[in-house]
This record gives sequence, C-alpha cells and structure tokens, in this order.
Amino acid sequence: MRAVDIIRKKRDAAELTRDEIKFLIQGATRDAIPDYQIAAFLMAVLWRGMSSAELAALTQEMLHSGEVLDLSGLRGMKVDKHSTGGVGDKASLVLAPVVAAAGKNVPLGRKPVLVPMISGRGLGHTGGTLDKLESIPGFNVNLSLSEFRSVLERCGCALIGPTPEIAPADKKLYALRDVTATVESPYLICASIMSKKLAEGIDALVLDVKTGDGAFMKRPEDAEYLAQLMVETGRGMGKKVVALITDMEQPLGRKIGNALELDECLDVLHGAGPPDLRSLCDELAAWMLFLAGRTPDVAEGRALAAEMIESGRARDTFREIIRAQGGDPEVVDDVARLPRAKNLAKVKAERAGFVTKIQCEQVGIASMMLGGGREKKEDVVDPAVGLVIEKKVGEAVEAGSTLCTVHYNSDMRLHEVMELLSTSFTIGDVAPEPAPLVRKIIGAE
Ligand code: URA
Repeated sequence: MRAVDIIRKKRDAAELTRDEIKFLIQGATRDAIPDYQIAAFLMAVLWRGMSSAELAALTQEMLHSGEVLDLSGLRGMKVDKHSTGGVGDKASLVLAPVVAAAGKNVPLGRKPVLVPMISGRGLGHTGGTLDKLESIPGFNVNLSLSEFRSVLERCGCALIGPTPEIAPADKKLYALRDVTATVESPYLICASIMSKKLAEGIDALVLDVKTGDGAFMKRPEDAEYLAQLMVETGRGMGKKVVALITDMEQPLGRKIGNALELDECLDVLHGAGPPDLRSLCDELAAWMLFLAGRTPDVAEGRALAAEMIESGRARDTFREIIRAQGGDPEVVDDVARLPRAKNLAKVKAERAGFVTKIQCEQVGIASMMLGGGREKKEDVVDPAVGLVIEKKVGEAVEAGSTLCTVHYNSDMRLHEVMELLSTSFTIGDVAPEPAPLVRKIIGAE
C-alpha cells in the first residue's frame, strides 16, 4: 500500500477500506508516514467527509494505536462524561464525586458505578478540568495507570490527564490538525474524542455537546451533527452513549478561572451555587447514573444525584479523591485555602436596563489573557485569576452597576482585558426570554 494512493482516493471522494485507514493510522503513529502526507489526508477528510464505516474504522484504529484500559477486573459499571468545551464549564468537578458517591454501597439488584475520568487542559478560550484540579494545592493529575486504577477502586473515581500510552495517534493527528486548519472537521473531532474516551475502558458515556457563542460549535445544527456522529460511533462499539446539546450563549455559572470555578463547584456540592450550574450537573449526573444501570430511569437519577449533594456524601467522596491524589482535602470546607488573586477591578454598566447578551467567547478570551488559560502551549496558567459575572443575561442593571469583577495579579494586560469586557455585555430595554439550558438530547430513545 502507498499513502499517496489512499490520499488520492479520499481526495476523489471514494470510500476507504478498513485496511487503508489502518495503514495510515499505524504509519502516522510509528512515524513511518511523513507529516505532509498525513496532513494532506486530514485536509481530504475535511473536504470529503467520511462514511459511517470509515469513521468507525478511523476511531477504532486511533483507539488501538495505544493502550486500552482493561477495567473489567473492577466490579461495577464504568461511566464518564465528556464536554466539547465551554466558558465557565466546570460540571465535571461536581459530577465526578456525585456519581462516584452514588455508585458506592448500592442497594441489592443495582450495579456499583465507577468514574474513570481522563480529562484535558484548557483549549483556546475554553477551560479544562485538569487546570481547575491543579488549583487544589498538591493535587496530582499525573498518576501512572496503575495508580489511577488503585484510586478508582478505592474512591469510586480518579481524575487524571492524558497519558502517553492512551491513543498516541490522536496526539500526532491533533498536533497536525492544529497547524493545518483541519481541527473543525466533525469526523476528525468525533474520532479524536471517542478514541480517547473509549480507551478509558468505559461501558457508558454522556456527552455534553455545547453550542452557542462560547462553544466551538457555534451553530446548533453543527453541534447536533457532531453529537449524532459520536453517539453512533460509540454505540457501534457496544457502548451506551447519549449526548445532551447544551447552551453556551453565556458562561455557565458566574465564575470563570481555575480556582474561582472550583470555588463555585464546592458551593454546588454544599447545596448552593448558581441554579444553571446545579441544574446542568443534576441532568448530566442523572444520565450517567441511568446509563450505568444505577437507577431505572433518568428521573430517579436526578433524585439520587440530589440526595448525594444534600446528604454530604458527594463532598465526602470529593475529599477522599483529593486526599488519594495528594491534594489538600480541607479545601472542600474552606475555600480560603485556594489561591486568590491580589487585585480586583470592576466593569460597570453604562446605562440601566437588562443584560440581553454576553459575548461568551470574548469573556473566555479575557480570562485567558489574565493568565487563566494558555495563549501558547508553553504559557504557565495562574490558578488564581479570572472573572465573576455579576449580571447574567436577563438580569436588571442600574447605570454604574458592576457587570463583571476581574480578579488579577498582573496589570500588564488589564487595560486590554477591561476594554474587551466592557464590549462583551449588551444592555437593552427588555429582558429576553430565558433560553433552555438543555436544548436537545440525542440518543435518548
Ligand atoms: N477535543 C478533542 O479531544 N479533540 C478534538 O478534535 C476537539 C476537541
């Protein structure tokens, strides 16, 4: 087989065979095929798309390019959640302890549930679970795979970053996509996400596919298409998969930035916190518990998730996970132990009215510019900085009310950040109708 013939075939919109895809992916992983040919293949996929059979083959070859965790020796169903990324999207840090707590000491006839979570870092204007976890003093996201198994078994959940052993083909392809304008292909996104998630050895997966200004998929139809691809691909591999299409027209909750977001998650775990974050967590947790067979339906999943929060069991589980991964478990009850920025600045409303729109991507960029995310790979994240949205869409403001509080350590880019934020809020005379948080569920039948 020759790479050039496979590239030509895809360029001319013919369907590739499983063997041809295997040849390319194995060649890319072993560095036996040069980057320029892999890049040409990626561009051909971006233009021509893929059939279901091609996408299944690509995902499976990427999945088997490295180690696939075998968690079959651990009793119980393994379930995870993946978000396509958003601004202030911190739901994983609530879901992980809630679902793990509900998965322990289960009643007769119900299955225990484990949450093996391999998460990512912030990407562009969106935040990442690993960066948020690292705002907990001492927390280690770099466990070996055997340590990961051991924490998972003891605590019901373990949270780590991608290891070199998992889906190495994705690392290679993702780096090339990043510099060849081919990140956006829904087929390549699907194979990238699903190969990594399925390598976790899970039985079930809940996908949170974000849409709106702060998401990568701005248009609902693109989010829905990606969700369909991921649900079909996962189910084709024998997994239980459902996708919730959720709103990202404004930040989730009020806090953006790593330690600030953790703070807000702890509020939710203490039974408080912003209603939108709480309601999304209840919904995602309910689906995780239902797919894992812990509850007979989603409604009971919601009730069980709420019980884990109200009883304090989710907080107990979070303390256990933090302790097991080397972090300071006292943060769960004392957020003053988290890093805090030295300075505050306020963005004020110029007129009275109602917030009608927040430019969510711009807000994410502002947090990144403060040091809350990475503009370049080598940037070091400051866990303490970020933003608090004081007025969300639909809320009334007076002239001079604070719209957003900026938490910063260095004033090097403060002026630029303040300018960006002051153009991020639109104030009108009439409050808009509240938009539903969960827009659609794909694969609920
Ligand atoms: N996240 C991933 O892991 N892969 C993509 O291609 C896009 C988002």
